[in-house]
Amino acid sequence: MGKPTLLPARTFNWTKEHLPSISRYFEYRPAEQLLGDALDNFGDEIALATGFGTSGVVLMHMVAQLRPQTTVFYLQTDLLFPETMALRDRLSERLGIQFTEVHSGLSLEAQVEQHGPDLWAHNPDLCCHLRKVVPLRRYLIDKKAWITGLRRDQSAARANTPLVAWDAANGLVKLNPLAGWTGKDIWRYLYINDLPYNELHDRGYPSVGCQPCTRPVARGEDERAGRWAGWEKTECGIHLQPLQAEAA
Ligand code: SF4
Repeated sequence: MGKPTLLPARTFNWTKEHLPSISRYFEYRPAEQLLGDALDNFGDEIALATGFGTSGVVLMHMVAQLRPQTTVFYLQTDLLFPETMALRDRLSERLGIQFTEVHSGLSLEAQVEQHGPDLWAHNPDLCCHLRKVVPLRRYLIDKKAWITGLRRDQSAARANTPLVAWDAANGLVKLNPLAGWTGKDIWRYLYINDLPYNELHDRGYPSVGCQPCTRPVARGEDERAGRWAGWEKTECGIHLQPLQAEAA
């Protein structure tokens, strides 16, 4: 996957009603084109979210080349794998990114006091709400757009992910520049650009979240089958829109 030739940046009207046509415009154009145009437009008011998955690493690499001062943040739940933290440090060194850590402000001890031990084992929706959904909402309040690594091939629930959409839950533009990429595209990009990835991927974990809620997947299972295994839950909630969130 060589470096694509990019067209000069275009000025789009990034208002809510124009987002579907922007999304269609970029459907068959390089992800870098969409990213570049969005970074030019939103400047300091756009941020890239990462959980340190493979798509996130691709996006960090692209953003580091297009606009290196762009904020890259992650949700620190206090329950991430040490391997994930090691990847964060390697990426920092390799790409020069100073990651912004977004925390709930709720220590694990305080969570035990308020909700009992191992909240994830009996009410993972509440645990994700407290440690991910609320902190994210708070963090995005002064942003105009955010970027995620969602892809359509990751699970049935993500099959219709648009490239650009209005995020009604958080009240800003949401970009998923790699929505149309496959897992193979991602790995090819990592390989060609010699980028690091979470060593847990080599141990059967294609998708890595918090330690208590992530297990390795079996051959033939979808990429996110190891997340909240045994529960109907397939998303932590940060990518759910209000109607779905209410139904969850
Ligand atoms: Fe809690 Fe699990 Fe959600 Fe992490 S993924 S916030 S441990 S329920």
